[in-house]
Amino acid sequence: MGEHRRFETRAVHSGERRPGGRDEEGTFFPISTPIYASTTFSHPDIETTDRVLGGEEPGYSYARWGNPTVVALEEALASLEDPKGEARAFTFASGMAALHAALAAAELGPGATVLAAEQLYGSTATLLLQIFGPLGVEARFVDAYDLGAVEEKVAELKPRAVVIETISNPLLRVADVPSMAEITRDAGSALIVDNTFGTPYLQRPLEMGAGIVVHSATKYLSGHGDLTAGVVAAGAPYDTALEQIRKTVGYVLGPFEAWLAHRGLKTLPLRMARQCENARLISSRLASHPKIAKVHHPTREDHPDTKVARRLLSDTGGLVSFELAAEGREAAFRFLNSLELCVRAPSLGDIYTLAIHPATTSHRELSPSRRERLGVRENLIRLSCGIEHPDDVIGDLEQALQTL
Ligand code: PLP
Repeated sequence: MGEHRRFETRAVHSGERRPGGRDEEGTFFPISTPIYASTTFSHPDIETTDRVLGGEEPGYSYARWGNPTVVALEEALASLEDPKGEARAFTFASGMAALHAALAAAELGPGATVLAAEQLYGSTATLLLQIFGPLGVEARFVDAYDLGAVEEKVAELKPRAVVIETISNPLLRVADVPSMAEITRDAGSALIVDNTFGTPYLQRPLEMGAGIVVHSATKYLSGHGDLTAGVVAAGAPYDTALEQIRKTVGYVLGPFEAWLAHRGLKTLPLRMARQCENARLISSRLASHPKIAKVHHPTREDHPDTKVARRLLSDTGGLVSFELAAEGREAAFRFLNSLELCVRAPSLGDIYTLAIHPATTSHRELSPSRRERLGVRENLIRLSCGIEHPDDVIGDLEQALQTL
């Protein structure tokens, strides 16, 4: 769907109205692309199969190569990440599979160096160290929200790829993607941006000069906490490599999950608008609460990236983190156990408000001193705001705070 249509319209219509087939009544077009639960696709004659397999004619042959339900979702995702239509989107069985494919497409092989944000999602760092490390890839880390430090490291290491996240977990630092794109372009490095926390609703890194965008679609893009999926969006030269890698490694998204993710994607703008609004209201209410020591949210004046967020994000995101005035793990656990509405669960981006203790979930594998250095304290709670009425969520948080 063309770039002249607005984001909300593309979210609803892109990828749909594919011919569903032909019967005695004529060709029909389902308004919602159905689930094509078929491993293989036959053709009227073997010559057609030969042309489809040879890429001379469009069509489907084998599910690992392509499936119409999956392609419908990918068209919708591409139209949201890159309305100009220069990039393609590829879906995967999980966000981690998508990250693996993105790193492989950036040609991370023997002798290559990758520079990554030290604030990166833990499993992404593990992927670099434990899967790409033994292949001869050296992973180095930098504070991705200190542009001077990034510039220095890129000049020193000349990395093949730089990996960052648009909004970091759990302190919600906001990356200056256009400046990063300039630094990496000058050095000839691929800029890989994990846009899971941002979504294309808040920011489209490809338009800002990034080479490859990755998502855990398990989170906001699908939005209902009912499937695992990943996305990579990229144009030339990465798109050809991505297609080849996915087809060969085989970590494809199944048609059932693709259908569910596409259904969820249609309400992304509505959900995100509400989640951003809830996060704003909750963060400002918590900031004046006597049992809260500090609130981390891009709207707070003491947040280090308020200006970057105002310049680069269309809204301030659906997450809020806060430090309890009571110190230590015990207080954090008591607070979490006292929640009656907010769900204690280690994920984000769902319609339900989810609360976690980052020190024992996302940052569990790190040493206490490294956690401390990253600002992930024992009294820190991360809230992923859902779409409930904000007063109900605030009421639940306040009653849990009263137990401290
Ligand atoms: N990237 C980020 C920023 C994440 O938060 C996650 C999961 O929490 C992933 C990637 C991995 O995604 P998945 O769990 O879908 O494999």
